[in-house]
Amino acid sequence: MDVDARRRVPRADVVLNDPRLVAAAERLGRQVVKAAVTSALEQVRLGTVAPEEVVAACVRSLPATAGGLRPVVNATGVLLHTNLGRASLSAAAIEATVASAGQTDVEFDLHTGARSTRGESALSALLSAAPAAEAALVVNNNAAALVLVAAVLAAGREIVISRGELVEIGDGFRIPNILESAGARLREVGTTNRTTVADYADAIGVETGVVLKVHPSNFVISGFTSSPAVRELAGLGAPLVVDIGSGLLRSDPVLPEEPDAQTVLADGADLVTGSGDKLLGGPQAGIILGGKQYVDRLRRHPLVRALRLDKLRLAALEATLRGPRTPIYEALHARVEPLRDRAETIARELAGRGVDATAVASEATIGGGGAPGVVLPSAAVSLPPRYATALRQGDPAVVGRVERDRCLLDLRTVPPDQDLKLRNAILAVSVTP
Ligand SMILES: *Cc1c(COP(=O)(O)O)cnc(C)c1O
Repeated sequence: MDVDARRRVPRADVVLNDPRLVAAAERLGRQVVKAAVTSALEQVRLGTVAPEEVVAACVRSLPATAGGLRPVVNATGVLLHTNLGRASLSAAAIEATVASAGQTDVEFDLHTGARSTRGESALSALLSAAPAAEAALVVNNNAAALVLVAAVLAAGREIVISRGELVEIGDGFRIPNILESAGARLREVGTTNRTTVADYADAIGVETGVVLKVHPSNFVISGFTSSPAVRELAGLGAPLVVDIGSGLLRSDPVLPEEPDAQTVLADGADLVTGSGDKLLGGPQAGIILGGKQYVDRLRRHPLVRALRLDKLRLAALEATLRGPRTPIYEALHARVEPLRDRAETIARELAGRGVDATAVASEATIGGGGAPGVVLPSAAVSLPPRYATALRQGDPAVVGRVERDRCLLDLRTVPPDQDLKLRNAILAVSVTP
């Protein structure tokens, strides 16, 4: 770079004092703005940004919030995408989260001025949603619920579990290891494809802490298979815990094979565990429902303090349970015709602007530990494959999927009120004649 150009590189402190960046620093923090200034000045030095454009370049590159996580439009067609944060909170849950973010009565009775039970109203919302449960407890996530169950009911003892249910839940974490980490021993019964009631009955003895039935929530074994129903395992004389995975509280006709808490408890399970952010559609949480004597034993264990939920998630969970239908419910139950209409509208608008876009039929899945093998008919906007990367790196970030050399944006996982945003994101990265 010549001397003249170097002399024209503005000084960082001068740039930082620009009123637009002073205002940004008040909102986002000085560190975030400073980082943007540093990188914009670097671009000036490289000659990719003009010196007089440096503030505008900074403002453009500032993140929307001081937090590092960026919002993503999930157009993958995978309803519960673990890498994209699983369930989206409902508007009601978002509002409740924001309302609870400051000081709040999470453990305080405003009526009497005395301390109250933490999260009591969220627990009562759970019990109203699954009345077959006598009591409820919430912890950090379903893995934590399993650790707690193992620590309280089976530490130093055996957990009787079918070989067909030794599930790896993701990112290398396996349920057997999680259970053993709490000091329980596994007593594996049956085979990968078939386990009978007699297999369980033969294994139950003085060493048994619990019988655990785990829903194989992310794979399907088909063919010569069988495993006993919850009702058959309930009568074996050992406490029966069922990990339903998805957190579905009541049966859903769209997912006939998916176990739900209400049915499993009515069939005789002593405890049910599940996730808050899968089909329940709420924040990350571990939901524990069941008999009062068991839940009370769990509640008294010191681990509960280590695994407890914060006020934000308690607020979100209660609003999810008491509020209107969740985004995941809407996505699961959306009829395919309106999805097709939306895909056609978007594709037509894009084609009118010179983009190679068409509406195509697509298949969405549940993903993230629920209803394996279930395919939901859907509709997608189909684009040339290069859009996949461009959209992912755009603003807002849009994640689709590449199939048969096309980038598909599946609308079952995009709420209808995001269509305009989606269309604009596509136009922003399109190069049209
Ligand atoms: C997802 C899943 C878990 C883990 O739940 P987290 O809430 O992610 O901890 C455990 N068991 C089953 C069957 C699952 O599907």
